[in-house]
Amino acid sequence: MTRIDLHTHTTASDGSLSPTELVQLAKTQGLSTLAITDHDTVAGLDAGITEGERLGVAIIPGIEISCLYEETELHILGYFIDKEDARLTEALSKYQESREYRNPKIIERLRQLGCDLTYEEVKAFAGTGTVGRPHIAQILLKKGYVKNVAEAFDRYLGDSGPAYISRALPDPQEAIGLIRAIGGIPVLAHPVYISRGKQPFEEVCARLKEWGLLGLESFYSSHSQSQVDRYRGIARNQGLLATGGSDFHGDSKPNIAVGVGYGNLEIPGDLCEKLDDLAKERAGRT
Ligand SMILES: [Zn+2]
Ligand SMILES: [Zn+2]
Repeated sequence: MTRIDLHTHTTASDGSLSPTELVQLAKTQGLSTLAITDHDTVAGLDAGITEGERLGVAIIPGIEISCLYEETELHILGYFIDKEDARLTEALSKYQESREYRNPKIIERLRQLGCDLTYEEVKAFAGTGTVGRPHIAQILLKKGYVKNVAEAFDRYLGDSGPAYISRALPDPQEAIGLIRAIGGIPVLAHPVYISRGKQPFEEVCARLKEWGLLGLESFYSSHSQSQVDRYRGIARNQGLLATGGSDFHGDSKPNIAVGVGYGNLEIPGDLCEKLDDLAKERAGRT
């Protein structure tokens, strides 16, 4: 069986393994293909691709762009993107600014809520990676304010938590358009997180498809079998490719293993060919 994973994070964003370490892990786990999809950055791709070439693991250059759709945060994955494209660089530096504006505000809220931490500490902990809420969660854990990362999100940092600060996020139409413009395949990530919104999920999906969406992440670590079936059905009905990935983050989400999620994730190996075909088809058109 070919094992693949199309959704992973490295230290370039909020994962705990460097791109090189991640590819090495993928190799030892028997993965043939890995997409590196850091949040709003392509900084981990070069190192990942180099290590992939050395070890014989195919690396799909990817990204995960956070967007806001009618007050719901949703994430758009992009596969086979041209990481050097100036339009991408420009958009990412804009998104980065909005992140940098948000994090100190989250820390301020946490301090008001009685948690003693500073933005400097979080930045030092994140190292060269893009600071994100998982880093803040790790500091809360280290300082004993919570027992685990999930509790940090439930009690403080989650979308309805008291320390949640929304940021100026791009519209999914913008993110999908950008990914398509730079030769990529846009895919809606972890639909389970947005299915609870006001609008029926099928409608959200149909709208995104009008904007150029090409895939739906149907196989995902926290999807139950019935959810996998549901999203595959929606993908089929709407003419989207049913993709899959674990959302591996290393220590930030310690129970999710690359390629297999919580252990029962089965991402179809032939997905790579289908993605490849789609990428070639797209390249032929432009
Ligand atoms: Zn995501
Ligand atoms: Zn992710």
